[in-house]
Amino acid sequence: MFNTALFIVRLIYRQVDSIGVVFVLARLDNPIIHGYFHRLVGENGIKVLERMPEGEVTDEEVSRATGVLLNVVRRTLFILYEKRLASYRRVRDTDSGWLTYLWKLDLSPLPGLIEEERERLAANLEERMRFEEENIFYTCKNGCSRYVFESAAEMGFVCPDCGEPLTYQDNEDVLKAVQKRIEKLRPRV
Ligand SMILES: [Zn+2]
Repeated sequence: MFNTALFIVRLIYRQVDSIGVVFVLARLDNPIIHGYFHRLVGENGIKVLERMPEGEVTDEEVSRATGVLLNVVRRTLFILYEKRLASYRRVRDTDSGWLTYLWKLDLSPLPGLIEEERERLAANLEERMRFEEENIFYTCKNGCSRYVFESAAEMGFVCPDCGEPLTYQDNEDVLKAVQKRIEKLRPRV
């Protein structure tokens, strides 16, 4: 598994404004944060985040330090740059005239980005909640699939996969579970 310690230190170092924020952000295994970065840069990008050396580094140094392929490192850094989570400085070598990019992580926009992510997830769940509330569901005893009334009726209330009858399914538990997840994302103050 990844060494999250470095990442934790970084975040605590940069997020000194709120103890609560520090606690939440400090855990890359927090599902919201992990989900956000997974969507953004993928698992190899997360490796880059966790293992990237402190201070200004070239992409090649990042690749060596993280064990992630150079092209993946470059892609990750540019995605982070677009989100203002990384910055670079160009330096020209006086002898060769070559340009070197020195990269640095800047996780200060992260609290805002995580808030957006939290809101996005909660909105998705609310939509799911409405769908659950507005529909009646049918399923077979083998649990092959779940159908809304209209679809179940079209299939003559017979499961297309196993041929068993489709019967009414109480979705109270599903509603409760979705509600719980929304409350976790949006704690009532
Ligand atoms: Zn079935």
